[in-house]
Amino acid sequence: MCIFCDIIKGKLPCDKVYEDENYFAFKDIRPKAPVHILIVPKKHIEKVADIDGENKNVIGDMVVVANRIAKDLDIDKSGYRLVINNGPDAGQEVYHLHLHLMGGKRMIFAA
Ligand code: AMP
Ligand code: ZN
Repeated sequence: MCIFCDIIKGKLPCDKVYEDENYFAFKDIRPKAPVHILIVPKKHIEKVADIDGENKNVIGDMVVVANRIAKDLDIDKSGYRLVINNGPDAGQEVYHLHLHLMGGKRMIFAA
């Protein structure tokens, strides 16, 4: 069971901001910035440590989606932060790979 897989399948509600054949993006339920979006691959990959030669395109694809959403939400000029947490010390809460897109305020401290 994976909550992000359930969100992608429409079994759990979310505030969707983007979807294509392979990627899905929705608003973070506990936003840490005025804009806080999670970009996820539809294919279940647990964490960024599982990225290898076979699936490394996923990272680039997620960044392309994030850049597009940043433009759509008009934070491309003001700037934004992209974050991927991996494992316990990084505070990874959900073990379905996701890229945080955060912006809309000046972020001085590390994520
Ligand atoms: P991470 O700590 O990198 O694993 O981030 C997981 C993020 O998912 C956190 O920022 C949570 O607020 C967010 N989150 C958890 N459950 C949901 C949900 N049902 N809908 C939207 N965001 C969620
Ligand atoms: Zn999943």
